[in-house]
Amino acid sequence: MNKNNKSFYLYFVIIIGLLLFTVWIGTLKIQGNNYTRGEFESQLKNENVAIAKISPNKETPTGSVKITLKTGEERVLNVTDVIEIENLIRDYGLDPVVESVPEENWFLNSVFPILLVTTICVFFFVMFNSQNSSGNSGGKMMNFGKSRARLSLGDNKVTLGDVAGLKEEKEELEEIVEFLKEPGKFTRVGARIPKGVLLEGAPGTGKTLLAKAIAGEANVPFFSISGSDFVEMFVGVGASRVRDMFAEAKRHAPCIVFIDEIDAVARRRGTGMGGGHDEREQTLNQLLVEMDGFGTNEGIIVLAATNRVDILDPAILRPGRFDRKISVASPDIGGRQDILKVHARNKPLGDDVDLEQIAQTTAGFTGADLENLLNEAAINAAMDRRIYVIQEDIKKAFIKVGIGSEKKSRIISDKEKRITAYHEAGHAILFHVLPDVGPVYTVSIIPTGIGAAGYTMPLPEKDEMFLTKGKMKEDIMVSLGGRIAEEIIFDDITTGASSDIKKATKAARRMVTRYGMSENIGVINYDNDDDEVFIGRDLAHAKSHSEIVAGEIDKEVKRIIDECYREAKEIIMKHESVLHKCAELLLEKERINRTEFEALFE
Ligand code: ADP
Ligand code: MG
Ligand code: ZN
Repeated sequence: MNKNNKSFYLYFVIIIGLLLFTVWIGTLKIQGNNYTRGEFESQLKNENVAIAKISPNKETPTGSVKITLKTGEERVLNVTDVIEIENLIRDYGLDPVVESVPEENWFLNSVFPILLVTTICVFFFVMFNSQNSSGNSGGKMMNFGKSRARLSLGDNKVTLGDVAGLKEEKEELEEIVEFLKEPGKFTRVGARIPKGVLLEGAPGTGKTLLAKAIAGEANVPFFSISGSDFVEMFVGVGASRVRDMFAEAKRHAPCIVFIDEIDAVARRRGTGMGGGHDEREQTLNQLLVEMDGFGTNEGIIVLAATNRVDILDPAILRPGRFDRKISVASPDIGGRQDILKVHARNKPLGDDVDLEQIAQTTAGFTGADLENLLNEAAINAAMDRRIYVIQEDIKKAFIKVGIGSEKKSRIISDKEKRITAYHEAGHAILFHVLPDVGPVYTVSIIPTGIGAAGYTMPLPEKDEMFLTKGKMKEDIMVSLGGRIAEEIIFDDITTGASSDIKKATKAARRMVTRYGMSENIGVINYDNDDDEVFIGRDLAHAKSHSEIVAGEIDKEVKRIIDECYREAKEIIMKHESVLHKCAELLLEKERINRTEFEALFE
């Protein structure tokens, strides 16, 4: 693709260059002037002319006369008859120089047009050819309805060894690899292998990587295409691409067809908000038809990946289509450590790097986040001209990746700083005192790239499968801690706590409407799935509860928040001396770590 682009530009530049050249040659000939015959004759009469040089044109008898006046000035006169003008000049006693008729410019007249035509021919030839040779991937102009799937045959170097963690997921896919390697083993006993496998999970959990690894492991042709490649402006193009792709796949069976981000084509049909979904529906229909069309065990396995399984059309999940669904989960501690190991392979680590500890502090990170973390750390090491990565690099990267780069340069007033220091100290004290949250890893009042004035980062010691009511309440209390500290210390309160308040409110509302954690409301789900994609569908749905219940819910949410506020305030008041000490220390050092913070409690 790149190479083709280069030659495209090369020919483009050559053609433009040649065109400019011809234009330039042309302009040379028609240098006009407004010297008239009358002026010339009067100057001849007055004997002002020193030299006259006659240059006949090719198409005789026309030509031009270059006249040098006695004053040294030069004039050019275009004439229709050079013989006549020569005689005229001789009549006045001058002896004009007569140049010979110019020879044909052989380059301009014969070679140049041939060159131009050849160049243009080569140009088009290369352009069309490049589209065909780059297979089905490029070619906007020629292969509109052709599949854009990229085919890779055995040059795929990713193996299951590159995929860390994801043990169950890999086991489930193992049998597909086995089938592709040795179909006979399965058909002999009448086993049916799934036609389609849907990988589902949050972005960055390694779905694409897993699909590539399967192909690499099975060593079969691998067609990969992204769902959005089917979507074009013109109706019918997507469907035709699907058809083309499967025709191609059948020719290469056994093989894997991988449709990444399948939600782009396989959205639930008939939810049409905003229109323009006809094309997508056609494409999806074609996809379903094709998947029904090839028999089981024909050797084509369709893998698809999505992070929005909830918006997929149910028809796609029916048996005979994507009847196997594999959830690719965010890694747990062990998984994270394995992923870190994989990505640390080509990065020399210093002896103080503790991958286990990093795995501990990165709860919620996906594989892609971890990869990014180590990459940032390596960049930090390179910036320090070190040839190996130390723990400090990773710490810095952690803050950059997790919170956004610290922006030390932003200027903030002392008052703002003081408020932020107390605000963060409020959060930190609650993290420390409450049993189910924390401990505090870092407290900082250095503004971050994402607009926060500071942050308090806890260090969760374990992964949690589910939240308890107690933990949720503690989370709410921690969120409110910043505002409470502001209120205790300053008479005034600030707008800085808006996102804290939002977070607390959201948690409280979920406790009431989703988790059945409020006695007054009971164990009933009043939670509307907040799925913005389907506003169209949801608008048509009636609200699931009455206005009275809505009022009750609001009351409960307020009660929970108020209760948490009261309890949190008590705790902070009890540790007011720590609050002051912590804020002072923050103002002094801008960022304090766990040991420094815990020392404040003596
Ligand atoms: P997804 O397709 O789920 O959004 P990708 O497969 O594109 O995520 O993953 C992005 C990158 O994250 C991969 O290229 C890889 O470097 C890293 N990664 C994700 N999961 C893993 C894993 N389990 N093991 C190793 N690397 C991983
Ligand atoms: Mg992906
Ligand atoms: Zn806050």
